[in-house]
Amino acid sequence: MTAPASDAESGSLTGTGLHLAFGRNKILRGVDIHVDAGTTTSVIGPSGSGKSTLLRVLNRLHEPDAGDILLDGRSVLGDNPDRLRQRIGMVFQQFNLFPHRTVADNVALGPRKLRGLSKDEARSLALEQLDLVGLRAKADSRPANLSGGQQQRVAIARALAMKPEIMFFDEATSALDPELVKGVLALMADLASGGMSMIVVTHEMGFARTVSDTVLFMDGGVVVETGEPEAVFDDPQTDRLRSFLSQVL
Ligand code: ADP
Ligand code: MG
Repeated sequence: MTAPASDAESGSLTGTGLHLAFGRNKILRGVDIHVDAGTTTSVIGPSGSGKSTLLRVLNRLHEPDAGDILLDGRSVLGDNPDRLRQRIGMVFQQFNLFPHRTVADNVALGPRKLRGLSKDEARSLALEQLDLVGLRAKADSRPANLSGGQQQRVAIARALAMKPEIMFFDEATSALDPELVKGVLALMADLASGGMSMIVVTHEMGFARTVSDTVLFMDGGVVVETGEPEAVFDDPQTDRLRSFLSQVL
């Protein structure tokens, strides 16, 4: 495949012909995805359709059985997977903050250990990132003293502190109480409009419609439909997408 011109910018990601099986169970059956630098792609689809697996293949937590992955137009399959994971920020449903460390230490840890920053540099970077997510005042609190929504914003700050080229979100708001979802989605929307490249696996159809540049609908390990949000939501081309939308909208 010829990479589009925009691949020269930082943070574009392309997966082509991605296949993955667990034993005889084929989970991804030839998935293509392309995220232009600075754009947001939302991945929607029923439970078990392979959305999380796709993210895990794209950051090489699972090695694809076939296909290629290009970051900024260059294949990453020959690189050290740890290096790739530093270029991709991951935010999951479960925040997995270290409970016995302060909020600031949670954010500073990665930059210290993996990017070689000094203690002071990492601390000031952490405070800067916490400021960005509106939680500088909580820097010296323990995670347990924060709401779920605040903890997820700390997890986002932690990922951003690694200066990723692209961010992956896997149902980042699914574990939150309903009243806390909005704040996290607003932060994600801010990141998107600030030019971060993002892949967002989500059940929040409002977010997918209003924030994404591209929506990708997966079912049964394939991309059934993809396009601009208006096309995907207002003019679905397949019964599978129509039926999915009728259940979630
Ligand atoms: P989604 O995120 O869309 O709900 P997943 O990617 O988590 O779907 O899962 C897709 C399918 O792959 C499911 O049938 C799931 O049981 C299976 N699966 C996911 N991870 C593993 C694994 N590590 N080993 C075996 N099967 C898995
Ligand atoms: Mg999932």
